[in-house]
Amino acid sequence: MIEVSLVKCESYDEKEVRTALEAVLEPVGGLEWVRSGMTVVIKANLVAGMSPDKAVTTHPVLLCELTKMLKAKGATVVIGDSPGGIYSHAYVNRVYAAAGLKAAEECGAELNQDFLQRDMENPDGKVLKNLTYTAYLDRADAIIDFCKLKSHGMMGMSAAAKNMFGAIPGTIKPEYHFKYPKYEDFADMIVDIDELFKPRLSIVDAITGMEGNGPTAGEPRYMGFLGASCSPHKLDRVCAEILGLTSDSIPTLTAAINRGLTSEKVEDIAVNADIKDFLVPDFKHNATRSGLQFSGRGNNPVMKVASKLMGKILRSVPKVHKIECVACGVCAGICPAKAITIENKKVSIDREKCICCFCCQEFCPKGAMVVHRPIGAKIAGKL
Ligand code: SF4
Ligand code: SF4
Repeated sequence: MIEVSLVKCESYDEKEVRTALEAVLEPVGGLEWVRSGMTVVIKANLVAGMSPDKAVTTHPVLLCELTKMLKAKGATVVIGDSPGGIYSHAYVNRVYAAAGLKAAEECGAELNQDFLQRDMENPDGKVLKNLTYTAYLDRADAIIDFCKLKSHGMMGMSAAAKNMFGAIPGTIKPEYHFKYPKYEDFADMIVDIDELFKPRLSIVDAITGMEGNGPTAGEPRYMGFLGASCSPHKLDRVCAEILGLTSDSIPTLTAAINRGLTSEKVEDIAVNADIKDFLVPDFKHNATRSGLQFSGRGNNPVMKVASKLMGKILRSVPKVHKIECVACGVCAGICPAKAITIENKKVSIDREKCICCFCCQEFCPKGAMVVHRPIGAKIAGKL
């Protein structure tokens, strides 16, 4: 049985996309499970209100074609997400407009207009025992997790597992960063969300992905494929391989491997094609990995202290590019640790308070906040 499907798709041309979508879904069971009268929620990546050519959000042509396929089966289709920032009608509708979702609406999708939040207990969660989530997800008979393949400041890679963090309202997301400051715990929290909402299908838009200062301010990178799986973690493992990233550089993948949700060995995953044909050479990843390898884990007390110290010295940190910064204050407003202050148009980061969540980097509208990897970490990375 095929677990992850990969299909080439060279452009966002409507016809090509439709053919590729049908082809990529077929090996993982297609849309056979969709019944007339069902409500299918497509959880897209709509992290910020940016046009499709910036490669930040799931491309509208893909959402359109998937909507048509689901409608043909008699399903009601709802597209939604909770971008970073205020979870309100006005703000999210601006994001829809910028991301080109009007087109998906014309194809028959409903763009979610329910901005209520709901609380839920989650006793089976490893770290996430209760949560506040976007109430519209309760409408779903099934969720399709339609992500974009991107580099990510905190989690190394943004793909299927990370996309489900959008189940948490944007206004609440910083609280979760503060509650789970350690990368390992944050990743476990995301895997708890994946396990709780259990997308029926995960699809990755990797026709044009993003590299460098992702997930919102990097450069679009042509990759030329679509991927699909019933497991977000298996899809992520294959995507990591394609980008040349190791599992231990992606905390959500490490968390999923630790729970037996995917194999670390990509050879153990049944893929319909040869992964080598999809490789993205010299992918520019975001530089957070070094700190992860020195995060104070292990049982030897001396090694624990040394490891923590090394973690502080070698960890990647947010840094402002003064020329590009316009002192708009978005970073200070979103920082869950209240580590950023702006005085006389100068941004300062309190390193003692900073928990390295990279929300500031993710939401800086000018791409002025970057992930800085200390020189020691660059040298250590080459050892
Ligand atoms: S969000 Fe970006 S541009 Fe705005 S103050 Fe922060 S670093 Fe500067
Ligand atoms: S300064 Fe940036 S990286 Fe540090 S805690 Fe604040 S938002 Fe997160």
